[in-house]
Amino acid sequence: MRPVKLTQLGEFGLIDLLEQEFARCATDIEISIGDDTAAWRTRGLALATTDTLVQDVHFRFGTTSWRDLGWKSLAVNLSDVGAMGGQPQYALLTFGLNDSIPVEGILEVARGLADAGCEFAASIVGGDIVASPRAMFITVALYGLVPEDGLGPPLRRSTARPGDLVAVTGGLGRSAAGLRLLSEGTPVSAEVRAELVRAHNRPWPRVREGQVLRRVGVRTAIDISDGLAGDVGHIARWSGVGVRLAAAQLPVAVSVRVAFPADALSLALFGGEEYELVFVAHPDTMDAARAELALLGTPSTVVGEITAEPRGKVVLLSPEGRQETVERGGYDHFRG
Ligand code: ADP
Ligand code: MG
Repeated sequence: MRPVKLTQLGEFGLIDLLEQEFARCATDIEISIGDDTAAWRTRGLALATTDTLVQDVHFRFGTTSWRDLGWKSLAVNLSDVGAMGGQPQYALLTFGLNDSIPVEGILEVARGLADAGCEFAASIVGGDIVASPRAMFITVALYGLVPEDGLGPPLRRSTARPGDLVAVTGGLGRSAAGLRLLSEGTPVSAEVRAELVRAHNRPWPRVREGQVLRRVGVRTAIDISDGLAGDVGHIARWSGVGVRLAAAQLPVAVSVRVAFPADALSLALFGGEEYELVFVAHPDTMDAARAELALLGTPSTVVGEITAEPRGKVVLLSPEGRQETVERGGYDHFRG
């Protein structure tokens, strides 16, 4: 069978096929795909976020499957709603496409999007398709909700206070290690490779964890998209506090230590696209929060504390006991 070309199918033919894929996990909504806008009723605090994945900037054909690409393009947005402690609800999807992209590939992307939507109860309710002659791109705008349940406001970056503890979910360094494996020929076992590449191509957003943290009284969190050091730097600046991280306490993933023993610590500190949560709380709340996360099956580790000084900065306590200010932040698109 010859692959179907976009030009044969046309924009409206494609929208029909997409709609069928997204129907798999559609939630009830007043108006979904088909009209001029989507429409839904809302109570509580509405959240909105958007992220774009661009071919050859955020992904490469050949190192990701179409389905994983779809999953990731929703997952990065789900992670942001999770980091606010919210429930994801409705997404808009913009595709930038050209005729070199096979229709079956686009439908696989849609299946990956639906996989992530089904898992976290978000549905795709509209979007746009535009011609993008050189690079394919996928933009997802995701709306979510923090319910008015009296259990507290969304998790912010600006609410850390001296004396609070800093903790992180899961293990660190996997996604950056996976990216490195995809671009270098490092010899590792098939299992280690699969774990690291999966962390990079199909990250698991900590949505349920963020919701639990808000409900137990945590007020401060961020998801790790730029790298742990860079993202705690955002907390330091927005809260006007210092952050002291203890290198010896970082939960560097075992697979990362196995694959890149010499660089494991730097991958854990600076590796981006982790989509783990960093959360900050008073020591009493921290114990309760970590116990609740454990009930979800999510490990967490205290990695540092909030200090009054140096304001806006991250200090790393090295395994040998030296203290150094972390200058290198996370990934910056315009500086690289
Ligand atoms: P308009 O011209 O009014 O902007 P379109 O013709 O672009 O509408 O889209 C028709 C319908 O299909 C709209 O409801 C729109 O939200 C939906 N739609 C278009 N592209 C996508 C997409 N990539 N994913 C999901 N829904 C889409
Ligand atoms: Mg349009």
